[in-house]
Amino acid sequence: MKTFHIEAPQFQNWTCQSCGECCRGYHLVVISAEEKQRIESQRWTKADGVDPDRMILPHGAKFRLGHKPTGECVFLDAESRCLIHARFGEQAKPLACRVYPYAIHPAGEKLVVSLRFSCPAAAANIGEPLATQLRTLQQLARLIVPGDFKTVPPPPVLDKARLTWPDFFRFVTRLDKTLADTDAPLPLRVLRALDWLGAVERAKFDQITGSDADEVLGALARRAGQKLPRMPEASERPSAFGRLLFRTLVFQYARRDTLKDLETPLRHRREMFNAVLKFALGSGAVPAFRPGLPKAVFSAVEKPWGQVTPEIEAMLTRFFRVKIRGLHFCGPAYFNWPLVDGFRALCLLLPVTMWIARWLAAGETADKLSAAHVARALSIVDHHHGYTDQLGSGAARRRVRLLTQRDDIAKLCVWYWR
Ligand code: SF4
Repeated sequence: MKTFHIEAPQFQNWTCQSCGECCRGYHLVVISAEEKQRIESQRWTKADGVDPDRMILPHGAKFRLGHKPTGECVFLDAESRCLIHARFGEQAKPLACRVYPYAIHPAGEKLVVSLRFSCPAAAANIGEPLATQLRTLQQLARLIVPGDFKTVPPPPVLDKARLTWPDFFRFVTRLDKTLADTDAPLPLRVLRALDWLGAVERAKFDQITGSDADEVLGALARRAGQKLPRMPEASERPSAFGRLLFRTLVFQYARRDTLKDLETPLRHRREMFNAVLKFALGSGAVPAFRPGLPKAVFSAVEKPWGQVTPEIEAMLTRFFRVKIRGLHFCGPAYFNWPLVDGFRALCLLLPVTMWIARWLAAGETADKLSAAHVARALSIVDHHHGYTDQLGSGAARRRVRLLTQRDDIAKLCVWYWR
């Protein structure tokens, strides 16, 4: 039997808490013809609470699981249990359900593991360390990783040039090291990483290899630390254009188009158009354009929210490190973007998450931001990161570049930390 060399972060925990969140809200679960046949052979009836006629529906060339009128998967029972799992075991479920929220990515001779923080247990770090789940990960890897995965080249660091995997990992390791340095506040670590990656880009150091690369990247990172010894004052507001681009990005991350919405496409498009206009304007009421988003006004979201707690900072640090080590920010896991642009897009999740957390807190008229607000914001944001095509479009890449040119990514990170 094939055995993979799998690396998963020791500092991230996860075990399914059977909350059923991933099975609600008209989630699309695509299944193959073989899975359809398997589920049909399980002989579900109305007496089990499953309508066999609505159980599986066509979806392009494949199929998808049906939903109850309230948006849950047809197999989710009133106690938030999966009926297939309860009756036939975990292996009888569709592959998509078994893999979620793991994300397994080829990295040369090995596979690296990331996690989707759209799962509340991942954001809350509940369960067993990922690094102790290698048996499960091996089983899943056998089902999803193609036999020729070792031929997948590393993503470019900048635009074209490709390194070997070991040399590519010199950049990834240095990024992780920069983000892991808990002596500095998280936005400052992000700023330092952006700074030394900017130097790599300007000097075209994307081809450096071997011990030279370690030396150069180490020197650039040290220089970034000297240049940015402490958090910049939050008084430097991002540019008006940057704030506009940023609010449209927040809108994209807060949005969730469901299969239900597609039943009334014109109405849905009109609602989304109105909502994005309000985000572009950025004043008055924030449009609560889908269930789960609260009523609040832009001024309440934008005001300073005070010191960020160590618990929130630890959660966000863990998020960034899982994404970096799991290569969940560039290459095939992020629309084939190079490392530098992919990392910049990842950095934008810091202000986007903080903005949505403030929105949730303002909607509850809370006076402080709690870890629960940030965890919920992370689960909204990470539903999309790397999975919603719009975020990988040419326009999305141009937005990242425009924000970089104006130094607005760095300013946004500091501005929404206050
Ligand atoms: S099949 Fe089970 S695990 Fe998959 S979405 Fe339905 S209830 Fe959830």
